[in-house]
Amino acid sequence: MSDQLPPCPQCDSEFTYENGPLLVCPMCAHEWVPGEADTTDTADAAPVIKDSVGNILQDGDSVSIVKSLKVKGGGGKDIKIGTKVTGIRLITDGAVDGHDIDATVPGFGKMQLKSSVVKKL
Ligand SMILES: [Zn+2]
Repeated sequence: MSDQLPPCPQCDSEFTYENGPLLVCPMCAHEWVPGEADTTDTADAAPVIKDSVGNILQDGDSVSIVKSLKVKGGGGKDIKIGTKVTGIRLITDGAVDGHDIDATVPGFGKMQLKSSVVKKL
């Protein structure tokens, strides 16, 4: 059992005290709900991957390409702006060089895309 109170998330003061449901810092007058500060550090929350305009992407989403993309080994073809890609899969760990989406691009096949070049449909 531990009755040690967490330090102030604002100023790291250890002189925090309980005031009803709140914890209070006498050093900077910050008040907060215990446990709240912990959630910012938990690593088990799935990372959020956003498209070029800030929409949150999810597995299975459909997106369109917002930037013309050169494809290595694509025979000189570019992926054109507006190309629709359905059923994306997010790469939540091990994304290489910002390529955080697994996608099958029509005419090009399976490849990895950066979330910054797509827009959710
Ligand atoms: Zn404080």
